[in-house]
Amino acid sequence: MKNLKDYEDEIYKCSRCGLCQSVCPVYKATLNECAVSRGKFNILNGIIKGELNLNSTVKKYLDLCTGCNACHDFCPSKIDVKEIFTAAKAEYYKTNSISFFEKIINSYTLFKVGLLSGRIFFSVYRFLRLPGIIKYFDKFFCKAGILGKRLLLLNSLANCRYKNRLRKSKHKIKKAVYFEGCFNKYINKENEEAVKNILEESNIELIKKDFECCGVSYLNDGNIEQFLSLLNRNLKKLDTEYDYVITDCASCYETLKNYKLYSSKNSAKKLSDSVIMVTDLIKNFTFEAVKPYRITVHKPCHDTYDFIDIVKNIKGIEYIEAKDYDKCCGFSGKFALKNQEISRKIAKQKAQNYIDEQADFILTTCPACQLGLNQGITEILAENGKEKIPEVMNLFLFLAKYCKTV
Ligand code: SF4
Ligand code: SF4
Repeated sequence: MKNLKDYEDEIYKCSRCGLCQSVCPVYKATLNECAVSRGKFNILNGIIKGELNLNSTVKKYLDLCTGCNACHDFCPSKIDVKEIFTAAKAEYYKTNSISFFEKIINSYTLFKVGLLSGRIFFSVYRFLRLPGIIKYFDKFFCKAGILGKRLLLLNSLANCRYKNRLRKSKHKIKKAVYFEGCFNKYINKENEEAVKNILEESNIELIKKDFECCGVSYLNDGNIEQFLSLLNRNLKKLDTEYDYVITDCASCYETLKNYKLYSSKNSAKKLSDSVIMVTDLIKNFTFEAVKPYRITVHKPCHDTYDFIDIVKNIKGIEYIEAKDYDKCCGFSGKFALKNQEISRKIAKQKAQNYIDEQADFILTTCPACQLGLNQGITEILAENGKEKIPEVMNLFLFLAKYCKTV
């Protein structure tokens, strides 16, 4: 991996044109020049020249970024913003002593304990039929302060069981290892079941392995040591012949694609070159919805437009394109944890765009985005409980629960 100094020429390519301001969700929410890539490049330039120190204040500015990559896509110089920010954050971890708070949020052991506790908690939660009860009283809870809003956010993770409507079939000729991601593994098995049900229609044999987290939040935070530890543990678990590694999570997909950039092992290259989204396998399926739903989508920053084409082609639905449907939802894992107010502000604007469309469902392919959108919806409900609220749902769950194949 390159050091910050190695990006000197790349950073120098920034002409200070300021175009990135017009697309950066964090800048729009804060009007803080340090939030946008131009401002960060000014700071990093000062660090490379030895005029500034890479200290915790600079790290806070670097953390003012959801990693959406909108500035990269819009930048005339096409500067690889995320790679540079990651290198700068990695340098911060190498050269600074870490605060207690940072140690806590960087601890994978604690993260895993949290996920295992979440698995038990949600099993009991569903057993007691709480998702339906809390949803019924959502207008009350969203007005009950931050705790009520957090409860609603928690509730949005707990989908109820459903009856699969898809056919089983097909001779299996390709082997795919399924990388289910932390959310499907620990919190919501229904998404995983939905993926399995949908792939029953394909020629793919699904292989399960007990993977660790892909490491996305550690990579984005610049904690390369922890990221590499997870990468190596995941490579060890990939001890079988396979044609593809598949995932239904847009964030896992992008991270696995990047494994080969951080490891020189052949197995890392093979994994990165073989990883595909489940949507790649179902592009040619024809789905038909059981009711004429009004559907809109949120495109995660890391997904392709293919998944939107799958939605548009579902027979019997009305597809609606919401304003800024492909812009960042403002959640992005640790960003939401470290910058709660900004995250809520971005999410609220996004959610309002969807509520304006009066859709029945917002479909997406990233669990963090589901949380981001639900966070925004809760904020709006708290202000105006009369709105018709669309349900945020994982695409694959929607296909398995509300569609049949034709
Ligand atoms: S758009 Fe690119 S070149 Fe222009 S200020 Fe932003 S980072 Fe620099
Ligand atoms: S990646 Fe997104 S949030 Fe980060 S600076 Fe660029 S536009 Fe802003």
